[in-house]
Amino acid sequence: MPKTIGLVAHDARKQEMLTWVKRNAPTLCDHELVCTGTTGGLILDMLAKEYPTLSPSMTRLKSGPLGGDQQMGALIAEGVIDILFFLTDPMTTQPHDVDVKALVRLCTVYNTVLACTVATADFVISSPFFSEPYHAEHHDYAAYLQRQPL
Ligand code: PGA
Repeated sequence: MPKTIGLVAHDARKQEMLTWVKRNAPTLCDHELVCTGTTGGLILDMLAKEYPTLSPSMTRLKSGPLGGDQQMGALIAEGVIDILFFLTDPMTTQPHDVDVKALVRLCTVYNTVLACTVATADFVISSPFFSEPYHAEHHDYAAYLQRQPL
């Protein structure tokens, strides 16, 4: 059963993302890919060059700082994204830092698999759950939804 996999990399980590995707391309291309705009474009160009016989299924969102991170967040809130590979730049302040934080926060809210390092990404992609069905338990927010705010 294909999973829906988000891929996002900040500029300082795009090369790292491309190297990792290249190393795992046949596995990743068995799944639905959803990428922020620039990351997705680079991945498609690389795959066309390195793996001309693969036909990746990819949705390209807007560029991250132009709303792509928020589009990805909406897909997480809707339960569409199973796994997010999110290589963030830890050394530079991002103009869309609030969106970056929001994306990580939503993964926590919805118990979405989130890899922010290549080492974690390696663990995730080599997990048996990567190719088998996996049901992520959701936190019960019923009490929150039923609160009396006033
Ligand atoms: P980009 O966005 O792939 O369009 O560069 C990444 C990000 O969220 O900064």
